[in-house]
Amino acid sequence: MPAITPDDLIPMNMTQMRSRYARAVAPAAMLSVFLATLCTAQTFPTDDPVIRQMWEVGIEHSQTESLAHTLLDYYGPRLAGSPNLAASQEWLLERYEEWGVPVRKEEYGTWTAWQQGILHLDMVEPRIRTLEVRMLAWSPGSDGTVEGEVVLPPEGMTSDTVVDWLATIRGKFVLWSAPEAMCRASQELEKYARPETVEKLEEARMATRRAWDKRTRTSERSSEWDAALDAAEPAAVLTSYWSGGWGVNRIFDTSNKNAVGIDVSCEDYGLLYRLADNGETPVLRMTAEAQDLGIVPQFNVIAELKGNELPDEYVLLGGHLDSWHSASGATDNGTGTITMLEAMRILKKTYPNPRRTIVVGHWGAEEMGLIGSSAFREDHPEVMDGLQVAFNQDNGTWRFERIEGQGMLDFSGHIWRWMTAVPTEFSEHIVLEMPGVQNNRGSDHVSFLCAGAPSFRLQSPYDEYRQYTWHTNRDTYDKIVFDDLKENATVAAMLAYMASEDPERVGRSRALLPIAIDPRTGQPRLWPECRQARREPR
Ligand SMILES: [Zn+2]
Repeated sequence: MPAITPDDLIPMNMTQMRSRYARAVAPAAMLSVFLATLCTAQTFPTDDPVIRQMWEVGIEHSQTESLAHTLLDYYGPRLAGSPNLAASQEWLLERYEEWGVPVRKEEYGTWTAWQQGILHLDMVEPRIRTLEVRMLAWSPGSDGTVEGEVVLPPEGMTSDTVVDWLATIRGKFVLWSAPEAMCRASQELEKYARPETVEKLEEARMATRRAWDKRTRTSERSSEWDAALDAAEPAAVLTSYWSGGWGVNRIFDTSNKNAVGIDVSCEDYGLLYRLADNGETPVLRMTAEAQDLGIVPQFNVIAELKGNELPDEYVLLGGHLDSWHSASGATDNGTGTITMLEAMRILKKTYPNPRRTIVVGHWGAEEMGLIGSSAFREDHPEVMDGLQVAFNQDNGTWRFERIEGQGMLDFSGHIWRWMTAVPTEFSEHIVLEMPGVQNNRGSDHVSFLCAGAPSFRLQSPYDEYRQYTWHTNRDTYDKIVFDDLKENATVAAMLAYMASEDPERVGRSRALLPIAIDPRTGQPRLWPECRQARREPR
């Protein structure tokens, strides 16, 4: 492979990459093959029968739709510790066993099991409206159906008057987030409204936030403040975490022990706020069922095709199976789960006796802090030592568009070779950022990268995912683009195959400064430090 030059830092798509690779290193014969590939726009840049068969199994006989239906529609969201997560793990075991792929559950710790039941919240005064709401994870439930007034924290509370106010809220519904003046997505507003209107609305939004901060003493707010609110036993604490998209809220958890923790949609929260703020005292009726099921064991699901020549070297495919709970966890991370599950089905059918061992990890509790993958790293030093490469997928639907080299210098040459076997129509839109910068955050790839192992993300576009489906109440089956999911699973299988067959091990040398500058801070990025897996709940 050629030495890395500054030009290599510029992201290139595969068409550019092939042409560059050909210019730089290929002998004449190879060059003509590449040029023929480019000129004829041939789908397969290789005659390799395994690659052709992978395309057939992955694209023409894809099972992604039925797998996604069962995982997302039947089992639904897969919150860490939940019965749904446990059931979906059993389903994964059955799928692999049916396909003849050796599979196991590996216990790594415990978590608090919580199951949500029915949640219903209606405004009954001054008029009837059923509100769009979600329960925050690990919230307590209500004592049957309860009814109460909506209250706002009063302005200008002091540490004395807050005690008086807390004494008045028992059995009531407390609004506890700043309201949004408008719940339209900003891109439509910017498209249709006058620039001065956009500016005015933004100023109003900031003013509302400042006023709310004063009202709730946010600058002094702490977990103690939340605990005091909960101890005052309101019926529920209502919050709203708008994602910036139409009808979309991000839903997380609560530490409440008494008051039900509920997220109210941007639109409905604004309605309650305006009525309460105008002294029109809305009244709500709530049924909220939730069960604490105690501490239960937690698992990763690991499937494996043993290598026949180099069994102690590993190609690791991964994606977390757990999700947040307010929708179906379709794009975070049902799509990553199905991508790797389907990739293993393709591999078993087309390449059942790999040269290196191919492992897939369906990680637990990524959403709680990369726990399952960190535990796997700690429990499997032999896999870390023998790791050829790890590919992880965890950002939604759409085709893979990018692989960041994470500053692993030796990876560049390998990924170029592997990608040249991938059909042009799949590879031409994938940008390889080589050697790329260290990216310390994001997902389970960091759990292995931190140990110096070559570990990368297969990335899809982020923006719309962040606005609409990531951790939201809209992360459902209908958002999946199945053409892309089929393609991603097939590409993952092809990359695993090429990585397994590569005559050489991927080296582990890392980029030196100044490649690793964090654009946000201007400071050198530090190599991620491995965090110890948190194996039990707090
Ligand atoms: Zn995720």
